[in-house]
Amino acid sequence: MDSKTREQRSRNMAAIKSSSTLPEVYIRKILFSDGYRYRINQKNLPGKPDIVLAKYKTVIFIHGCFWHRHNCHLAVMPKSNLDYWFKKLEANVARDKRNYQALLSLGWKIILVWECAIKGKCRLAEAQLKSKILASIRCDYEQITEINSTASHQAPPSPSS
Ligand SMILES: [Zn+2]
Repeated sequence: MDSKTREQRSRNMAAIKSSSTLPEVYIRKILFSDGYRYRINQKNLPGKPDIVLAKYKTVIFIHGCFWHRHNCHLAVMPKSNLDYWFKKLEANVARDKRNYQALLSLGWKIILVWECAIKGKCRLAEAQLKSKILASIRCDYEQITEINSTASHQAPPSPSS
């Protein structure tokens, strides 16, 4: 009986720990603390966005870098079954693109927050992440904004003119 209790307790602790470190929760806290109100996992929108800010006609996706093929240090391809993984991940990317197009045509603005901006050695400081997200929500001219880690997607060198 005691061991069962202990097992139960450790399971509860594991559940609490993993849910509170979820990138989605982190972003939601940032928004909430700044007074933004949102819906989560709205199933009637293409791609089931993680966070929906209806007032700003903005959806936020928090993307795992591996699953959505981000060009960064977290998206390391497995060593085996490369064919399988390549096909699977390419299908994810193709589906993402279809969802983005559908959302844009419905008049939604899209913010993509990549996992590497939230965790790992190149993550953004919370204040920086927050200011980028809030700026993206307020931005009227970008249809899709991506928020990356400090290391990924560096701008290509500008052509010398
Ligand atoms: Zn990434």
